[in-house]
Amino acid sequence: MLKPKVSIIGSGSVGIRYAYSLMMAHLARSIVVLDIDKKRTEGEVMDLASCMPFVSPVDIAIGDYPDLKHSDIVVITAGAKQKPGQSRLELAKQNVEIYKDIIPKVMAHASDAIFLIVTNPVDVLSYAAYKISQKPWQEVMGSGTVLDSARLKLLLSKHCNIDARNVHAYVLGEHGDSEFPVWSSAMIGGILFKDYCPMCNKCNIKTSLPDMFSEVRNFAYEIIKRKGETSYGIGLALNRITSAILKDENSVLPVSSFVDNYYGVDDVYMSVPAIVNKKGVRELLKLKLEPEEIDNLKKSAKLIKEAIRSTGL
Ligand code: NAD
Repeated sequence: MLKPKVSIIGSGSVGIRYAYSLMMAHLARSIVVLDIDKKRTEGEVMDLASCMPFVSPVDIAIGDYPDLKHSDIVVITAGAKQKPGQSRLELAKQNVEIYKDIIPKVMAHASDAIFLIVTNPVDVLSYAAYKISQKPWQEVMGSGTVLDSARLKLLLSKHCNIDARNVHAYVLGEHGDSEFPVWSSAMIGGILFKDYCPMCNKCNIKTSLPDMFSEVRNFAYEIIKRKGETSYGIGLALNRITSAILKDENSVLPVSSFVDNYYGVDDVYMSVPAIVNKKGVRELLKLKLEPEEIDNLKKSAKLIKEAIRSTGL
């Protein structure tokens, strides 16, 4: 048995981009890919296997549920994706039904693995995976707003002409239309953004910040309008989360986690900063939020809960 082992359920655009990124980053020694579309998955795996002479040794194979045994992480991307103009929440019912089929089969063979949920709406599906599996919440997380936060950092970095690695900013809440930026704790090189802005004073932040955030929120819609899906960004965001788990990094990432007793928000999955290591989510960080941000967090939680309820969970 070769470790670390990552199993991927769903070999569509996202699953395969992620598998490719895992190979390139030498993160896993063994990768299993499972999908109901066996023929195409076989083709994808053959294609990926032909990369092997160019990368560190890695075993990649098509598999079925028994082959998930000894996985460190099971990443689930299986399910329907957004059509142009469709919101993520509109996919909830259909994808929860798929999870009712998938999760018990994963539990039968890889109940110890960390579950990393990607299928949209990711907060609803992470909650579904947690409820159906009855695993400890720490071991079930969603990709959340890791990518959205990265996009916000990128736009801030371009806007301020500062290296993105010196920009810190979170997008929290739902990975979807009700997500919100936490400007109060955004930082440029260790200086709070709200203090940095008046020093720089090169733009009108009353318009530039909302414009920047709506670009972040609409990023996926704009990509889907043009090419039908988003996959490279999420592939690398998953790679980042995988690294935090497999290398026991204790990284702070806004993954979708079980949020309870957090600014009055209970019993929901959504993104807040979480410390991620080999056991999953070690703990959530209670970020100091401004009253308007707390309102946004609560609104987002309410929408996710309504979507969860609409699926009958
Ligand atoms: P896709 O249609 O290319 O792939 C989905 C795959 O799931 C298909 O290969 C399909 O055969 C498979 N599948 C469906 N039902 C299955 C089942 N019961 N068992 C096994 N496999 C099954 O879609 P995609 O572009 O790869 O997107 C996958 C999901 O990820 C979508 O829900 C999409 O909205 C979501 N997504 C999430 C994020 C995020 O940030 N969380 C980003 C991009 C996409």
